[in-house]
Amino acid sequence: MPLPDALARATFPAPVLHVLRRLGDAGYRSWLVGGAVRDLLLHRARDANDFDVATPALPEQVAALFPKVIPTGIEHGTVTVLVGGEPIEVTTFRGEGEYKDGRRPESVTFHEDLEADLARRDFTINALALDPLAGELRDPFGGEADLRRRLIRAVGDPVARFGEDGLRPMRAVRFAAQLGYSLDPATEEAIRGALPIVRKVSRERIADELTRLVVAPDAPRAVDLMRTTGLLATVLPALAGRPERELDHAVAVLAATPGEPALRLAALLHALPAEDVGRTLLDLRLSRRISDETAALVRAHVCRLDGSRALPASPADVRRWLSAAGPARAPLLLELARAEAAAMGAQVGGDQRAVHALSEAIARIRRERDPLTPQDLALDGRAVMRILGAGPGPHVGEALRHLLERVLAEPRENDEARLTEALVHWWDARGRRL
Ligand code: ATP
Ligand code: MG
Repeated sequence: MPLPDALARATFPAPVLHVLRRLGDAGYRSWLVGGAVRDLLLHRARDANDFDVATPALPEQVAALFPKVIPTGIEHGTVTVLVGGEPIEVTTFRGEGEYKDGRRPESVTFHEDLEADLARRDFTINALALDPLAGELRDPFGGEADLRRRLIRAVGDPVARFGEDGLRPMRAVRFAAQLGYSLDPATEEAIRGALPIVRKVSRERIADELTRLVVAPDAPRAVDLMRTTGLLATVLPALAGRPERELDHAVAVLAATPGEPALRLAALLHALPAEDVGRTLLDLRLSRRISDETAALVRAHVCRLDGSRALPASPADVRRWLSAAGPARAPLLLELARAEAAAMGAQVGGDQRAVHALSEAIARIRRERDPLTPQDLALDGRAVMRILGAGPGPHVGEALRHLLERVLAEPRENDEARLTEALVHWWDARGRRL
C-alpha cells in the first residue's frame, strides 16, 4: 500500500539510515519498528537514538557489519550499534518462547519472519514496521487505523497477551495516558483477569511504567482507568483503599500539577495517612531520587483534605516550614499548594489567596536572604566546639539546631556575637553536659 503522508514526508536521522542500508546491502532487509514508527505517524519528534531497528540478521552477524557494537542485550537479540557516536538499537526478529511465569519469556527464538516479530509486540500501534529505504509500511494488525481511532488495542487475544506478560496492562494505561487514547473494550476488560499476573511482575518494572504514566498529559484519566480496572488496587493497594472522595481529590490535585514525577506522585500519595506514605514508597521501588523527593513533598505539603493543617502564614512559620522541607523544594511545594487550592475549587476561595500570600512570603525570604539551614548560620560546628571548649559529639548538632530555631524565629539574631551569647546561655541551661 502507498505510504501514509506522514511517513512519505518524514526525514530520518542519518545514522539510522546508515544502519538500515548497511544491513540491507549485506542481504538482511531491516525495518524500523515500534515507538519510532508510531511517533512518525503522529508527527511526533523523536531522537535518533530512540529509533529501534528490527532485522533478520543474528546479533553476531550485525556485530560483524559495524566497527562499534555494544552487546546490550545479546541473549534477547539486541545489540547497540554506534554510528558517529549515536547509539542505535538493533534487535533480531524474535518469536517469543513460552511465558511460564508471566514475567519473562522462557526462551527467545530468532527467525527471519517480520510478521512473527510484529505479532509478539504488545499493542497494534506498536506493531508497525517501516522500511524507509523501500518506502514500505507493514501493518498486519491495523495499528494505523487504531492510531486514527485513538485506541490502545492488544495484538491478538488480549487475555492471552496479558497472561504472557503482566507488565502489558500497565503499559496499556501508560500509553493511554501519554497519547490521550482510550482502551479498546476487550483490552480493558482483559486487565481485570490479568491482575494476578501483574502481581508477579518485578516492582521495578511496574515503577518504571508508573513513573512514565504519572507525568503523561492524560495521567488523571489513566489513574481513573487504574481504579476501574483494579490495577490501582494491585499496584498501590494502600491508595486504592482510601475512600472514593479522597481518591477523587488526589486525582484532581494530580490534574492540576505540572508533569514532574515527584510532584505528581506526591499529589497522588497525599491522599494517604502520613504513616502509610513511607511504606507505600518503599513498596513501589521507585528510583531513590524520586522516592525521597516524593516523601519530602508529601511530608511538607500542608493542605489537607480535612483542613487539619493550614498553610504557614507568619514569616517565622514560613521560614520554619521552608527549613524543614528543604528550601530548594519551595517551587514544587508552591505548585502543590496551588494545585490543592485549584482542586478544592470555590468552596475554599480563600486558599488561592493564602497560596499567593505564601509565594510572596517566600519571595521576601529569598530577597532578604534569611538564614534557613544550619549552613546559613553565622557560627559553624567548629566555632561551636571552640566556644564551648568541648570536642565533637551530638551536642554540636543539638547546639546548631537550637541556634537555627532562634534565627528562624528572628533572622537578625544571625550574628556571630549574638549567636555566641545564645550558645553560652543554652550550654549553661543544659548544665554544660556533653
Ligand atoms: P516509548 O516511546 O515509550 O519508548 P516504545 O513503543 O518505544 O515507546 P518501548 O518500551 O521502548 O516502547 O518498547 C519498544 C517496542 O517493543 C514497543 O513499541 C513494542 O513493540 C515492544 N515492546 C516493548 N515492551 C513490550 C512488552 N512488554 N510486550 C510486548 N512488546 C513489547
Ligand atoms: Mg522506546
